[in-house]
Amino acid sequence: MNNKIVIANWKMKLSLAETLELAKKMKNKFKGFSGSEVVICPNSLSLIEVGKIIKGGPLKLGAQNVFWEDRGAYTGEISPSMLKEAGCEYVIIGHSERRKYLLENYEMIHQEFKAVLGVEGLTPIVCVGEEAEERKTDRRDFVLVDQLQQALGGINLLGDQRVIVAYEPIWAIGSGVAIEPEEAEYAHKIIKISLRDMFGMKVVKNNFRIIYGGSISSKNVKEFTNLEGVDGLLVGGASLDAGEFYKIAKAI
Ligand code: PEP
Repeated sequence: MNNKIVIANWKMKLSLAETLELAKKMKNKFKGFSGSEVVICPNSLSLIEVGKIIKGGPLKLGAQNVFWEDRGAYTGEISPSMLKEAGCEYVIIGHSERRKYLLENYEMIHQEFKAVLGVEGLTPIVCVGEEAEERKTDRRDFVLVDQLQQALGGINLLGDQRVIVAYEPIWAIGSGVAIEPEEAEYAHKIIKISLRDMFGMKVVKNNFRIIYGGSISSKNVKEFTNLEGVDGLLVGGASLDAGEFYKIAKAI
């Protein structure tokens, strides 16, 4: 897939009123925007209202989490088909903050991935990335391959099923210190090779995008825009300011 994508992850950083206010600012800022695809992932409670605000413009809607069953006694959960009904085109799966605080593991992430693929028009954004400790022991390559195999293994993609893999080194998230661009390029290469082993060259070329996330800002974005194999960015902190996020989207 050729067109680049930039995704805003607002996490749980804003109140409901602040979320709607920021959505309106984004809508105005991105009026007439063309170029990369731009997705906004607000908290679940605000999805429907944010969807109404951005409707008809270039911004797309994404969710931050999803459950793997479609319906049933699963208190507190939201299904892929509900996200679709709410207007979502994307959903983040297995963010490291959920792995850390909610104890999500790659078995769960695999189930979520499969469930999302079952809903037409909803694209999973699957997060992978190593801990700082794992990096020091040179286990990074293995960690990434292992995470990808657990999350995506044993699944055949149909022709039109799109997948985004977000490489997010855990230590770089929210730290203000992004990875060195050459290291991001290297990790993306490892991810691409792994995906090719699992899905074949053609499927990887047509169906996958691999993006980077971790302390991207308007100041460092230029270093990441022309890297080989980096198809876009997942942006946390810097997406909470419409002007800053616009500069990032413009740069890619
Ligand atoms: C993230 O949480 O996915 C992220 C990339 O955050 P930040 O940009 O704040 O590092």
